Amino acid sequence: MRKYVIMGVQGSGKGTQSALLAADLDLVHISVGDIFRWHVKHHTKIGAQVRRLVAAGELVGDDLVESVVRDRLQLHDWNYGFIIDGFPRNRRQAEFFLESYDLDGVIHLDLPDDEVRRRVLARRLCSRCGMDYNLIAHRPEVEGRCDVCGGDLVTRADDTPDALARRLADYHSKIDPVIELFKRKEYVMTIDARADKATVQRAIRTRFNLPPYLPSNARLSG
Ligand code: AMP
Repeated sequence: MRKYVIMGVQGSGKGTQSALLAADLDLVHISVGDIFRWHVKHHTKIGAQVRRLVAAGELVGDDLVESVVRDRLQLHDWNYGFIIDGFPRNRRQAEFFLESYDLDGVIHLDLPDDEVRRRVLARRLCSRCGMDYNLIAHRPEVEGRCDVCGGDLVTRADDTPDALARRLADYHSKIDPVIELFKRKEYVMTIDARADKATVQRAIRTRFNLPPYLPSNARLSG
């Protein structure tokens, strides 16, 4: 059983790196942001509560986030472990998590703000199937069209320069104490996230003593 938290600013590649680890090591990838986006898309009660905050890139209240995480982990569909992405985002969430779950490690993806801006503002999302694109690293074959389903590519509502500037300021003020707290109790590895995704994935595997990354064998080699 392997249990990890992956942390890093928007655009640091948390989703991509988590997906690579999850596919290869049979971990369940739990993205708190994806859970909230699902609720918004399906017009649930939770979706109505978080829609405005998610669109503005502001954090959802701790009580709601904690109950969403608790409910998700209680499904116990993670026989080989999980990798949780987008949580914890502040000190209180970190304390809640440390009280409730044992971790094998915290993967901290480190990316300078300038690079974050460059990457995040190039992100696109398929409005139909949800596939992620990036106009720098993963361009669609036909501009504005999803390679998989042909749907329209759109900018995520929270990927505007204003929302991003707010998120970066918020991120730095909240996440540094979380990393300090984790460092006292857990095994935290800071990984330079500026490199390409295969290099970052290899660095994670090496630092956590995981089986080597062989892109041709991975079920999701992207
Ligand atoms: P993400 O995909 O991780 O950027 O998350 C998208 C949005 O979901 C964020 O901008 C927040 O509005 C909300 N969200 C995700 N994770 C958390 C969290 N741990 N605490 C509060 N809000 C969150």
